[in-house]
Amino acid sequence: MIVDCHTHVWKRAHWTEEAQQDALRVIRDPCLLETTAEQHWQAMQAVDKAIVFGFSARHTGLVVPNDFVADYVSRHPEKLIGFVAVDPHEPGYLDELRRGIEDLKFQGVKLAPIYQNYHVMDERMLPVYDYCQKNGLPILIHQGTTFFAKAPLKYALPVQLEEVALHYPGLVMVIAHMGHPWIEETVVLIRKQPNFYADVSALYYRPWQFYNALMSAVEYGAAHKLLFGSDYPFTQPGVSADAVRNANRITGSSGLPRIPSDVLDGIVERNTLGLLNLS
Ligand SMILES: [Zn+2]
Repeated sequence: MIVDCHTHVWKRAHWTEEAQQDALRVIRDPCLLETTAEQHWQAMQAVDKAIVFGFSARHTGLVVPNDFVADYVSRHPEKLIGFVAVDPHEPGYLDELRRGIEDLKFQGVKLAPIYQNYHVMDERMLPVYDYCQKNGLPILIHQGTTFFAKAPLKYALPVQLEEVALHYPGLVMVIAHMGHPWIEETVVLIRKQPNFYADVSALYYRPWQFYNALMSAVEYGAAHKLLFGSDYPFTQPGVSADAVRNANRITGSSGLPRIPSDVLDGIVERNTLGLLNLS
């Protein structure tokens, strides 16, 4: 079974004008600012299950309502799994968390501190971790860099998550994009924290970094903690899966060590639902 653990849906109207300009400065393709349910569904034909989430980051100007995501997920409950986006700057964010899980039937939580402008140990976040730990809810967290000018890098370091792990040892957490560019911080963190994982989404288009990221996980004995994800719409899941399987291509005839093919297949076919307590 192939599970894409990292996909987005959004409309252009969910981005402020400033956020659109900021995004287009780097990603250039305006089509990426709007992904209809139909386009998402089409792309997900390449995988067996997909985790879908909104976004709640008023600080950077991207707010995708949880109801918008829930409406789409409810149309394909056999395949799609929704995660609720929570921003501690929003009034009533804890009520929104509970509403997402209890009423909208989301099965996990999406956080993005660099976009949302807080340190992961901000005291407003502690009840969120507590709720997730108590209820067995996984958190997918964007702890790594981004292109938004306003997003503070000081809140983006994966190593900051160690304190969360030590306070909430039962909390299951997935670090998006292997925490790029701080990939080795992420690798050593997921190696030592039993309930921490990382997804490999949106990395393959930097093939040298991608090869080194996967090799680093192999050398530290942490490759079994890597989950497959695409970061759709930024990449297509089918293309991403092929890219993982072909991650050694960059080595050519250089004599560089090759990542074992069973490791690469293992990432694509990871038992993500079991590891994250998802049904
Ligand atoms: Zn993403």
